[in-house]
Amino acid sequence: MTTAPASHEMTDWLEAAARELGLAALGCLPTIAVCGDAEALAARYAAWQAAGNAGLLPYLERSLAARTEPLTARPWARSVLVFAFPHAWDLPGTIPDLPAPAAGAPAGVISRYANGTDYHMAARPLLAGLLQRLETCLGHSVRHEGGADAWAVPDRYLARRAGLGVIGRNQLLHVPGRGCRLFLAGLFVDAALPAAAWPGLADSATALPPTCDGCGRCLAACPTGALRPAGGLHLAPCRSYLTMEYRGALDAQQQVWLGDSLFGCDACSSACPPMLEIPGQRVDLEWLLTIPAADLRRRLHGTPLAHAGPTLLKRNAAAILGHHPGPEPRRLLAHVATTTGSAVIRDTIAATAR
Ligand code: SF4
Ligand code: SF4
Repeated sequence: MTTAPASHEMTDWLEAAARELGLAALGCLPTIAVCGDAEALAARYAAWQAAGNAGLLPYLERSLAARTEPLTARPWARSVLVFAFPHAWDLPGTIPDLPAPAAGAPAGVISRYANGTDYHMAARPLLAGLLQRLETCLGHSVRHEGGADAWAVPDRYLARRAGLGVIGRNQLLHVPGRGCRLFLAGLFVDAALPAAAWPGLADSATALPPTCDGCGRCLAACPTGALRPAGGLHLAPCRSYLTMEYRGALDAQQQVWLGDSLFGCDACSSACPPMLEIPGQRVDLEWLLTIPAADLRRRLHGTPLAHAGPTLLKRNAAAILGHHPGPEPRRLLAHVATTTGSAVIRDTIAATAR
């Protein structure tokens, strides 16, 4: 094929590419379909901010214009390919070089979605493979820009608009037949392609299981009430937000919300059918608090935990250890408070003692 697939061929092309690359879903959206959505997107963000989330994600607010108008920065884009991929979320496995605690010793838990290599890196060969297949199909190279998560693009919105699935009550994209424990990536291209999606929400012939049916298990499982019964997410008490996005010292209330979460939280995604019973990786807190930062940074390289870095992980470890009674945790925290060069860690420890 040396021209863009016709509309009736596009779903087959998407299915073939998705199967070859191991994607859970792949959709294509002509950018003309979303060029008038800026106002609606801005209204969604404004409502989200007004619901108690304003100021909590400074990087998001700095990039609000780019997120609501992704075509302003890419006026050449004629289509966007959006896909969901499974990576290692549902698999057993561990991040190497992070020792587990001895039986009964205090532990911090790493969420399952941080399993394996960094999902941003895992998306790269998938984006390259998709581009290569598209260019082979068209018979010429295309101008393009791809990304996953760490780019100022409304990826969940585009995935929903492309027909990949729906946004569930746990705020994740749900793909028919594949659930919600998936990562998203997108590829803007200057080729005009027809709209299509595989497997696609509208594909009744495949008799796919439903997406989010509103069962409410995610709300019941959320340990902090961050998921609101009326819909939406209150970011401040969310463990995923606190452990990896919030950069300041943790006060006493935030430490209660944190529980034993060292990085991320799986409760609302694991509770979603089909439920995931695999527990997260447990890490020795004493080891984490005493290992030199440079050594820890080296061990985190290539994992999602590098996003948080040594300071936030040690801060979180201190907060979790603060929940544990007894003289040993107190002694260790006092030692860390007097030796750390980080005010964030020191102030977090001070708050545990109050
Ligand atoms: S647990 Fe139930 S309500 Fe929550 S996202 Fe999953 S299907 Fe939807
Ligand atoms: S990630 Fe955890 S704390 Fe955040 S909404 Fe989901 S269950 Fe609640």
